[in-house]
Amino acid sequence: MPTIGVLALQGAFNAHAQALRQLNADVREIRLPQDLDGVDGVVLPGGESTTMSQLLLSSGVFDVLTQRIADGLPALGTCAGLILLAKQVLDARPDQVSCSVLNVTVRRNGYGRQIDSFEADIAITGLETPFTAVFIRAPIIEEVGNGVEILAMHDGAPVAVASQNVLAASFHPELTSDVRFHELFLHMISSGSTARGAR
Ligand code: GLN
Repeated sequence: MPTIGVLALQGAFNAHAQALRQLNADVREIRLPQDLDGVDGVVLPGGESTTMSQLLLSSGVFDVLTQRIADGLPALGTCAGLILLAKQVLDARPDQVSCSVLNVTVRRNGYGRQIDSFEADIAITGLETPFTAVFIRAPIIEEVGNGVEILAMHDGAPVAVASQNVLAASFHPELTSDVRFHELFLHMISSGSTARGAR
């Protein structure tokens, strides 16, 4: 079974850990750079990307994490985690950092005020039946660049994407009891790539 590091600086990391344990993965909470030693994959949870950005820098995790993902470590980012992986972040705080390993442009809180939290049943490539996606002040994916595959759309915008070793969603797959999205991540790790084309 793979060892999955779950970034545990802030946000909804516990729910991710639970979903992964349910799928028999070994889970390790990541708070320090050395916690990343030997992990087979890493999860960047939802929460507050500005706070996580500050904690990533002050803990020293940022540089090691960015390098490991750039070198091919499989990564799953959800909501704020997607923001932390994106190449371009709009409406970010000026001092906010991103690992810049996923070729997408996201806008923080891009779904606007009226519908800043909602649920939707969406079709996801690789899952046979719809998945209930929970959106909480979610970023909207405004552009998808080369090498990024769209796995799910909602209301005209991509909401789940994958590139070579990165899987990301603007929603929170960890907040329902449905563990199929995490299963997809584990499957992608065991098959060597998150991008379908390369599987
Ligand atoms: N709005 C948050 C941010 O910009 C993300 C919200 C979430 O992760 N649920 O960081």
